Amino acid sequence: MVDKYKRNIDYVRLSVTDKCNFRCNYCMIENAEFMNDNELLTLKQIETLIKVLKDLKFKHVRITGGEPTLRTDIIEIAKIIKKYFGNFSITTNGSLLDLLAKDLKENGLSSVNISLDSLNRDNFRKITRRDDLDKVLKGLEKAIKLGLKVKLNTVIQKANFNEIFDLIEFASKINVAIRFIELMPLGEKYNKENFISEDKLKSIIKEKYTLVPLNKKLGLGPSRYFLIKELNLNIGFISAMTHNFCSLCNKIRIAANGSIFPCLAFDYYISLKDVINDEDKLKERIILAVNKKPEKHFLNKIKKVIPMHKMGG
Ligand code: SAM
Ligand code: SF4
Repeated sequence: MVDKYKRNIDYVRLSVTDKCNFRCNYCMIENAEFMNDNELLTLKQIETLIKVLKDLKFKHVRITGGEPTLRTDIIEIAKIIKKYFGNFSITTNGSLLDLLAKDLKENGLSSVNISLDSLNRDNFRKITRRDDLDKVLKGLEKAIKLGLKVKLNTVIQKANFNEIFDLIEFASKINVAIRFIELMPLGEKYNKENFISEDKLKSIIKEKYTLVPLNKKLGLGPSRYFLIKELNLNIGFISAMTHNFCSLCNKIRIAANGSIFPCLAFDYYISLKDVINDEDKLKERIILAVNKKPEKHFLNKIKKVIPMHKMGG
């Protein structure tokens, strides 16, 4: 579907829960409030939605959350997406992948983005407020072993800035691309003191390595990739704050309760729940949401309250 700024919107990020077993400092407060289970889209509602998205010619679905692997019917959700789209990808903190990756792969999972902000147990615990680094590493190992396409996502902030080279060298060792995400001011706890820009990050990386721009896309997202020559490693930057990529935006986000967010940077959404059983009305609402996509975000200027885990990160 083409929006009013001539962008082709064909990519859906579907959140299946807003809950999480971690409490990353940039995403959730410890006592975050979650949707009631009866507010979440049911399997039947997810199936109607997925069918309609396919009819509207969306090309790819990424499951996200909250932590999508917490949903006990995640394999059933996978089966639904596989039925209509053939395959799908997932963004996860990785902590339950060791248990789920095989079943997910058998039911259409093709690629996995695993969030990994630290390789140091204490620092990992400080950032995520959970002592689960080992579980994440085990999940990552399993995903690689199963032959899934894997990428690492690292939100860069003051707390892990001193781990840049450890993270890069780890990614190189396991031969997996790593993307550094600029911290975005989402949610009430944002602290701008923690922000590190892409340019600052790159200048540090360049003290040790040569970054060669890769003029090709690896995946469907907004990451711009470089090759670290000495390591033969692909490294990406997702820098919404300092390298705006809104003109290339190709996605909509659907929250776990069926609210559709035209843009992650605005607390504006359209509910799908009241029309979820009526395919024609559902299509109209989705088309409306695509038409409401703003030209660009103003995260540097406006106050954004709804955190990532509630919209579908
Ligand atoms: N729980 C899963 C995970 O962490 O990968 C999926 C949901 S999470 C909300 C999706 C992505 O959003 C993660 O890579 C996370 O690091 C990123 N994220 C969350 N809040 C963010 C923020 N304020 N700024 C930048 N990235 C953020
Ligand atoms: Fe959970 Fe992902 Fe948010 Fe971390 S970023 S608290 S893992 S939803």
